[in-house]
Amino acid sequence: MHRFFTAPENITDEKAVLCGTDVAHIRTVLRLKGGDRVQVLDGLGNCYTVILSRVGRDKIESRIESKEDVEDCESPLTVSLGQGMVKGTGFDGIVRRAVELGVGHVRPVSAKRCIAKLSKEDSAKKIGRWQRIAREASKQCGRARVPEVGPRAFSVRDFCFAHRESDLRLIFWEEEQSVCIGDLPLKTRVKSAAVLIGPEGGFAAEEIESAMEYGFQSVSLGPRLLRTGTAPLAVLSILQHLWGDL
Ligand code: SAH
Repeated sequence: MHRFFTAPENITDEKAVLCGTDVAHIRTVLRLKGGDRVQVLDGLGNCYTVILSRVGRDKIESRIESKEDVEDCESPLTVSLGQGMVKGTGFDGIVRRAVELGVGHVRPVSAKRCIAKLSKEDSAKKIGRWQRIAREASKQCGRARVPEVGPRAFSVRDFCFAHRESDLRLIFWEEEQSVCIGDLPLKTRVKSAAVLIGPEGGFAAEEIESAMEYGFQSVSLGPRLLRTGTAPLAVLSILQHLWGDL
């Protein structure tokens, strides 16, 4: 059955409303009509079977028939990825692949050496775009939850403060010579991890020091220099293997 995400506020006790790009897809590509059934998810793990009641041009109304137990594709490890801003559309791909790898949250980090900056005027637009990409990636890989992207750009210090209680706090630094992920104590109880990946220009020394003040461990990803788009995928894969569900 076709699945669509809608914001939680579009779902009441007996009705669900679909809007945005899904409307045209349902009307013109899938050609669904009143009486047809689809599944609607609120991105928080709830899934409903609904019967389309009014297929309009800008929104589609439906009646909730039943609430479904969704197969839980969520990892037992919640990873908050603090990702340095990258130029062009590079961040799009990082968001998409991180969602497939079970990331919990994607926090854009405006590091000192970022080439791309997230200005106030285009912040909402870009974050809205990345959140749509996360929603599409969740739908494609079968997640009932949509990881939050944002809600704003963080400095390294902001991110570290916000994640100072995480079980695992790691900042990946290509100049780290002695500690790699394999050297981390394999604590059995790791439910949350906050990881920092720098932009194309890497982290400034003072950013590494800031992170250490909040108990972040600087970690090497081995002898080769990974691109900023490769590093988060390697980190997510390894952490999900050690403490998650890969
Ligand atoms: N500073 C380098 C590249 C930064 S790569 C340069 O100027 O070319 C972007 C980010 O990926 C880095 O900030 C770091 O977080 C991560 N990274 C890449 N290779 C790494 C490695 N071998 N060990 C640890 N982190 C690495």
